[in-house]
Amino acid sequence: MPRVFITGITGQDGGYLAEQMLAEGAEVHGLVHAEDGTAAAFRAAHPEVHLHHGDLADATGLRSLVNEIEPDELFNFAGISSVAYSWEHPIVTAELSGVAAAVLFQAALQVQDRTGRRVACVQASSSEIFGNAPSWPQNEGTPVDPVSPYGAAKAYAHHMAGVYRGKGLHVASCILFNHESPRRPTTFVTRKITAAAARIGAEGTGILRLGNLDARRDWGWAPDYVDAMVRAARHSTADDFVIATGQTHTVAEFAEAALRRAGVGDSWRDHVEVDPELFRPIDTATMVGDAAKARRELGWAPTVPFDELVGRMVDHDVELLRASA
Ligand code: GDP
Repeated sequence: MPRVFITGITGQDGGYLAEQMLAEGAEVHGLVHAEDGTAAAFRAAHPEVHLHHGDLADATGLRSLVNEIEPDELFNFAGISSVAYSWEHPIVTAELSGVAAAVLFQAALQVQDRTGRRVACVQASSSEIFGNAPSWPQNEGTPVDPVSPYGAAKAYAHHMAGVYRGKGLHVASCILFNHESPRRPTTFVTRKITAAAARIGAEGTGILRLGNLDARRDWGWAPDYVDAMVRAARHSTADDFVIATGQTHTVAEFAEAALRRAGVGDSWRDHVEVDPELFRPIDTATMVGDAAKARRELGWAPTVPFDELVGRMVDHDVELLRASA
């Protein structure tokens, strides 16, 4: 059974991956920054996972940790996950979402050279590396041209995946389009909407304040994207793969679907207000991915359509409200 090292294990994708790996009987190791509430909750839910303390910004510490664990598979999910945050902290974003990936690849190559065993790495890349792509859908050949500090940091890590691939390390870069689940924090628009919709549905009143209602995203189901990354790790050759549904919806459509699911019917419009404060300084307007290569080479396909995704998230938030009442 493989020994797996996951950075960002307490995040949305890290949690789903840890669960998938434990179900397969893998030995799972994860990186946590501090022994905070998130780490404690994760430890309580998954006592069989080996959690290691470490700082992504500490290259020496990170390198020795990888050398100590000697993983068969390394998934780099850690870093800043919010474009909005990256505008406020561009340098930290570069360190944690960019440079740390290079440190991990370098350490993985050291382990591979020393042990003679393949260390398969997966970089969780992002559609944000494409910035305002002039054409869509975006695929692996779309120029990397980020427009945010987050996108630029992820672009560096994406390029370093290619560089280390050239040095003989199996590094797949999965260019993930937005992928959501009930585990998304409310800093993301989907969960912000579903949490508010559940509340408005229960109380029959309330306003959901949003920024750009016309922004279009290609929203998929997070566990599907985790499954794609496992396939990429185990594929015969390391490569870049766009992981996306190929369908886009606007923020307004997400809000409508969520509010309807929560039971407000045609009056959903009365509960949505646009707040200019919530617009981004620069926003990637339309993102839609073409995952034909992943479908063809990895045998991957998304399993949860848009309405079902919205439904699962709203239902979860309705349950949470009920449980807290
Ligand atoms: P991102 O695509 O990784 O930045 O994911 P987000 O969920 O944060 O944002 C998706 C899109 O929703 C972006 O185009 C935002 O501008 C737009 N959006 C509109 N209103 C909001 C809001 O209230 N919060 C967030 N986070 N995004 C919003």
